[in-house]
Amino acid sequence: MTFPAPAHVRVPAQRDRVPGDVRAFTCPDCSSLVPFEGTRCLVSDSDLGYSRADRGMLVLRDGRTDGGLVRCVNAGIAACNWLTTPDRPLCDCCALTRTRPADGDTAALATFARTEAAKRRLLYQLDDLDLPVVGRDAANGGIPGAAWPSTCSPARTRT
Ligand SMILES: [Zn+2]
Ligand SMILES: [Zn+2]
Repeated sequence: MTFPAPAHVRVPAQRDRVPGDVRAFTCPDCSSLVPFEGTRCLVSDSDLGYSRADRGMLVLRDGRTDGGLVRCVNAGIAACNWLTTPDRPLCDCCALTRTRPADGDTAALATFARTEAAKRRLLYQLDDLDLPVVGRDAANGGIPGAAWPSTCSPARTRT
């Protein structure tokens, strides 16, 4: 059984799909393939980050892209490789998380990093389908009580 896509969802025509089609990310410096989670090109040793706006990898030089983007502050704790603007410490994906494990909870932090990695892939796929991603805050048009609140701060921890 199939369900028609909602009117706001862009579904590529079947003829445009290539069987086994896989998204490939490349290093802007040398065009080598890099994984979605990549932070460094293994060929050119370029410092890389994922730009949601560009849906691809950008090179950071001295911590910034040519367009001024910087790494998400969760680069260390959640192995986040997404880029953000200097005025927003968290990337779009990490900003959807309300609470993270306490710094001393190493077991939970490992799970947190895996969960955040899965969320980044999900967000990428939702973007690829042109589906809206809305945080919990009603001020943002979200539904209070729904998953993925957007009131995250990297300093907030579970006690
Ligand atoms: Zn490279
Ligand atoms: Zn992030």
